Amino acid sequence: MSQDNRLIYLDNNSTTPCDPRVVDAMVPFFTQYPGNAASRSHPFGWKAEEAVDYAREQVANLINVDSKEIIFTSGATEADNLALKGVFEMYSRKGNHIITVETEHKAVLDACDKIEKMGGEVTYLKVKENGLIDLQELEAAITDKTILISVMYANNETGVIQPMKEIGKICEKHGVLFFSDAVQAVGKIPVDPKETGIHLMAFTAHKMYGPKGVGALFVNRKKPRVKVTSQLDGGGHERGMRSGTLNVPGIVGFGKAAEIAKKEMEKDAARLSKLRDRLEQKLTDIEETVINGAVESRMPHVTNISFKHVEGEGLMMTFNQNIAVSSGSACTSASLEPSYVLKAMGLGDDLAHSSLRLSLGRFTKEEDVDWAADAIAKGVHHMRDLSPIWEMYKEGVDLESVEWSEH
Ligand code: PLP
Repeated sequence: MSQDNRLIYLDNNSTTPCDPRVVDAMVPFFTQYPGNAASRSHPFGWKAEEAVDYAREQVANLINVDSKEIIFTSGATEADNLALKGVFEMYSRKGNHIITVETEHKAVLDACDKIEKMGGEVTYLKVKENGLIDLQELEAAITDKTILISVMYANNETGVIQPMKEIGKICEKHGVLFFSDAVQAVGKIPVDPKETGIHLMAFTAHKMYGPKGVGALFVNRKKPRVKVTSQLDGGGHERGMRSGTLNVPGIVGFGKAAEIAKKEMEKDAARLSKLRDRLEQKLTDIEETVINGAVESRMPHVTNISFKHVEGEGLMMTFNQNIAVSSGSACTSASLEPSYVLKAMGLGDDLAHSSLRLSLGRFTKEEDVDWAADAIAKGVHHMRDLSPIWEMYKEGVDLESVEWSEH
């Protein structure tokens, strides 16, 4: 609709742009210092190893753990797989039962599916309407065969933050390991796995202004000493838990991103939550809108809103030359299935299909948010003006009771 050729990025939960300071730190490791961190016999290797050690400290420091507890991976998908399958194999003598949640990321759900095929038993907890799990249901699901509880820190679609400390206490009480996919929380809000009772935690550089293709798994080393069976075998890198030549430039960038996040996250979060609230206010001023997810327990930079009787993908077409956002169908790649996360929260297909996820980031400006809010509002009104369903709704027809003819 618009002739304006500006481009506004409000899809930071999908991936964040690299911070230029991160890119500056990485560049020399592509050209000037090309060594393999495992080459012990020459200065190129030593330089690379030193850079990896330093980055490991930076990453560990962000979450207040020991650098020996960080295993570098190719991203969070790999870290999720390593945690789940690695614990399943390592603790198979203790039990075969894992508890997780219906609204987890596919990297967790599909790994659990594989574990079931390998003889594991998986309980998928439901969530309440606000996206939070019920702690009593969690506790009731634990059996003497339960080896792992896997609950994501913050949801990628809604930003809803689970009651992590309470889950940690339940795990401790029952002697069960606690794994969290913390991709959407690390680097954005303070995350401290030790204080929270988390024993394994996956996160990734490209959601915190670092490069794509590098992530980490935190594995607790003391009280309890946790071990995972490697899923990639080879040269025995990462203390045998993850073989493969380390992505030195990527790891250097991850380290720098972690250092910046540690220093700036508080300031970023305060600014972004104000901007998010401003955006949300403008969008919820439109009639018949619903915010999806617990507003009192949410990441500061995300909002997920349904615009009743407006189809999200169609709505996006009214502005997607200018604004990048996700619709309630987007997370399962190219499929137009309504979001399973929103459906698990009890939304019907119509409300799930009419939702947009807007996620702000370090480089989002106030004018971007204002421009986007206006464009989205225009799009919603445009779609509703064209919609017979909206017209019927405005005329007071009870849409639930309408019997639609087949012809
Ligand atoms: N877990 C969550 C919650 C995510 O949002 C993502 C990213 O889409 C992943 C895991 C996968 O991370 P990566 O892209 O590093 O494999």
